[in-house]
Amino acid sequence: MAMAVSFGIGSYIEGGVVTAVILLNVVVGFFQEYSAEKTMDSLRSLSSPTATVVRGGEATVVPSGEIVPGDLVEVKTGDTIPADIRLIETKNFETDEALLTGESLPVRKAENATFDENTGPGDRLNVAYSSSTVTKGRAKGIVFATGTFTEIGAIAAALREKDSRVRPVKRRADGKAHPARYVEAYTLTLGDFVGRFLGVNVGTPLQQKLSKLAILLFAVAVVFAIVVLGANKFDSRREVVIYAVATGLSMIPASLVVVLTITMAAGTKRMVQRNVIVRNLKSLEALGAVTDICSDKTGTLTQGKMVARCAWIPSLGTYTVENSKEASNPTAGEIRFDSRVPTDINFRATHKESSGGGSIVGPGHLLEDSKTGLQDFLSVAALANLATVFEKENQWHARGDPTEIAIQVFSSRFSWNRLALTQGDKPEWTEVAEYPFDSDVKRMSVVMKRTATGEQFAFTKGAVERVIAVCTRYYRKDGEGEAVPVTDEFREQILRNMEVFAGLGLRVLALASRKVDLQITEDSDEQRAEVEQELTFCGLIGLYDPPRPESAPAVRECHEAGVSVHMLTGDHPETAKAIAIEVGILPKRMETVSRNVAEAMVMTASQFDGLTDDQVDELPVLPLVIARCAPSTKVRMIEALHRRGKFVAMTGDGVNDSPSLRRADVGIAMGQSGSDVAKDASDIVLTDDNFASIVAAIAEGRRIFDNIQKFVLHVLAENIAQAGTLLIGLAFKDHTSLSVFPLAPVEIVWIIMITSGLPDMGLGFERAVPDIMRRPPQSLKTGIFTAEFCVDMVVYGTWIAALCLASFVLRVYAWGGGDLGDNCNDSYSPGCDTVFRARATTFACLTWFALFLAWELVDMRRSFFRMQPGSKKYFTQWIHDVWRNKFLFWAILFGFVTLFPTLYIPVINHTVFKHTGISWEWGIVFVAAFLFFLGIEAWKWAKRVYFRRAARKRVGSAWKDLDVEQRVFGEYLRGGSDTGSSGHLVPSDD
Ligand code: ADP
Ligand code: MG
Repeated sequence: MAMAVSFGIGSYIEGGVVTAVILLNVVVGFFQEYSAEKTMDSLRSLSSPTATVVRGGEATVVPSGEIVPGDLVEVKTGDTIPADIRLIETKNFETDEALLTGESLPVRKAENATFDENTGPGDRLNVAYSSSTVTKGRAKGIVFATGTFTEIGAIAAALREKDSRVRPVKRRADGKAHPARYVEAYTLTLGDFVGRFLGVNVGTPLQQKLSKLAILLFAVAVVFAIVVLGANKFDSRREVVIYAVATGLSMIPASLVVVLTITMAAGTKRMVQRNVIVRNLKSLEALGAVTDICSDKTGTLTQGKMVARCAWIPSLGTYTVENSKEASNPTAGEIRFDSRVPTDINFRATHKESSGGGSIVGPGHLLEDSKTGLQDFLSVAALANLATVFEKENQWHARGDPTEIAIQVFSSRFSWNRLALTQGDKPEWTEVAEYPFDSDVKRMSVVMKRTATGEQFAFTKGAVERVIAVCTRYYRKDGEGEAVPVTDEFREQILRNMEVFAGLGLRVLALASRKVDLQITEDSDEQRAEVEQELTFCGLIGLYDPPRPESAPAVRECHEAGVSVHMLTGDHPETAKAIAIEVGILPKRMETVSRNVAEAMVMTASQFDGLTDDQVDELPVLPLVIARCAPSTKVRMIEALHRRGKFVAMTGDGVNDSPSLRRADVGIAMGQSGSDVAKDASDIVLTDDNFASIVAAIAEGRRIFDNIQKFVLHVLAENIAQAGTLLIGLAFKDHTSLSVFPLAPVEIVWIIMITSGLPDMGLGFERAVPDIMRRPPQSLKTGIFTAEFCVDMVVYGTWIAALCLASFVLRVYAWGGGDLGDNCNDSYSPGCDTVFRARATTFACLTWFALFLAWELVDMRRSFFRMQPGSKKYFTQWIHDVWRNKFLFWAILFGFVTLFPTLYIPVINHTVFKHTGISWEWGIVFVAAFLFFLGIEAWKWAKRVYFRRAARKRVGSAWKDLDVEQRVFGEYLRGGSDTGSSGHLVPSDD
């Protein structure tokens, strides 16, 4: 519009400049958005599905796009099938092919079936199709078609067609529609189109908000333009119109949306370096607002590299594995045998022979001494187990679930190895059926046939209470090889022994087996119940999964940042508690916490699910640890947190975690252990499964949010300064009662161009302020437009406008005799020298201040000269700070330097910029610059005093006024930390 108006009234220079600016903006904007989009694309492909292929005898995980025909792929529950594959081995295998056939029920596959050539795709049960998902079981298959040659590829064209952008007409039952409905549909479609064009219904909430802001500012600009016209009595002279256009232009937040896109793209790129892949840009904003993290234990807070530490066999005694350094090497370490039960052994004591801790015995001896008990135990351990442990080139390798690997390694110590037992020419065992593990049933079973005798056995392992529920017999120590019934007393004994192991932080599983005479027909769920009953209890095994070294500091960082950490785990409460204390989720000294709070802090899922919603809301705190957690409990937990106004990040890896991942404000999937389904439901993916990466992502989210706030503030404050100068400048009327503008149109466009685009991008790249993780989370409701933001915007804008106007007034009235000349809006003449010089002074002031303001905004509260708390370089620190962000530095320097040619190059200064070279007026500029810093520093100082007081008041009124949750954390910090950090209770300040 500005361009059209300028050309329309014959202001070719202004029109030309505006055109150039528009072109530049479009070109630069296009390329930057393009590269940002490309970055995002490549990131998205990072989190795209992967597939496990066996190549050269080794299973490797590759991106699905790298699969070729002939590959042998392995798929399991939750995977997306990477290509069309002919199945060669299936276990209880079902896939969801709704995408392909429209049939929503899962299809059960059978590798042995063969079909006629003309069988439809939906009926070819020996084939699994690309893009369908595995709902159950696992399978192996050979790839025979990839890409466009797959079934889904054939219909890809139809899928690729974007969903229609035309709103459907609402029709009555008979298919006809009222004409008004057509109008409605067209209006809505048109509305959508306009919305998309303006950007208010595309992108993340923040992007939409800024687009709306831009529209609002446009409206303001129009109003201002009308005000300018009105002040000059709607005079249609060129100068008046161009003044109006210029005032309008000064309100336009140029490049705001582009800078936002670039900041976000750069942010996601940095996230990748911190092992976080952002799948949904929305989560960039959401991360900074997270108040609660609900994390898995296994593999996230812990290393997920388990080793078997202890085992107990009722008929024999207790085995302890010592000094095992390598998790997957069954030959490392020693085994100690003690004939007592775990409850009688003091595991914390150092193992001395004298402490009666049993003795170190070789595996061979142990087997000799105890034929059946240990062998039964080992058979379950090795066979109710899908992990493989093998030696290759003197290196031990393990594949599979960490829990199972640990157990497999344990049995391999006694040369009981699944591979050795089930493979080879004459395998000792062949598999009949498999009932897989999932986190709801918490146990898994297999049925195996002993090749030599044809007898079938069921082997079961799983969570202790789930296994003993189906056990009816066991072998006693003095039982003479006769199984005796499981009594309640013995169940008690098992649980007590388990608690001894769990108290050591071990994950305890129970093993059981029995002989099966059933005819096992097919892997069916009905038969599962029949098989998993009347088992013989074989023993317990305790696995240690050490916490990651980063977990404890990361949890601490969360607490300091006002983020609560909850651990939701499938493990036993005692195990969970031990680990939670170790990583600092629970206080070290639980005694310091009042009883009812302590009770609420650790819960089992059944306790939690037993409460009604109201009871949950009445809990003094929501549980920090939920043990024996099932996926459905996670959803309830999120809802409970939401009711308390929390903002939740939730991790998950399994297929059944996807509801909770979707429900959470930030759903986090595990890159390594997670299933494709979980990744698909998530907002971000952690490539290293590490809890510390979540914290890094939150810090990064806060930084991005902070920086967006800074550059939006910069743009808006600058707009206010410019528009303020121009509007008040209307009062400078010459003798023809025409307003003489204090800033010429081209000057305005120049300032917008030079002082906002690049410096704002620089602000977007700023690193985090020092205390970013020592303050409470931002609220997404207010977003970036906090009260502080709005006040700052007005204060900075007005202060700059005041200084600019003052310099103009001083030059014209104090030292120029108030001579506003003749026709000085249009061209230079000696009579206009005063106005032209005054304009140049104002221009220099505004350019500089707008640039310096960017530096001042690097920290919203700290002094520009003291941005690093505790720095010893009292007078030079700011130089380092300024130099640190090179992009911002050069952007500002560029703006600073290019000011001079516009002032002194002839023609450009008089005709284009409508100002002239200044000399002693620089004095005014320098004094104004001094006052600029003085004012802003004083304002920041006042803010610091205010916030410090408010904080003191909050802490002073202290304990009883804090809500219970804060108190718990306070107690945690007092009880659990040695340094006595103040945590987030005391909002941090210098
Ligand atoms: P987490 O969320 O801590 O990873 P899971 O849901 O994976 O918990 O496991 C819950 C419980 O199920 C474990 O404590 C263990 O007793 C049992 N369990 C875990 N993995 C297996 C498995 N592969 N086979 C049998 N039982 C298992
Ligand atoms: Mg698990």
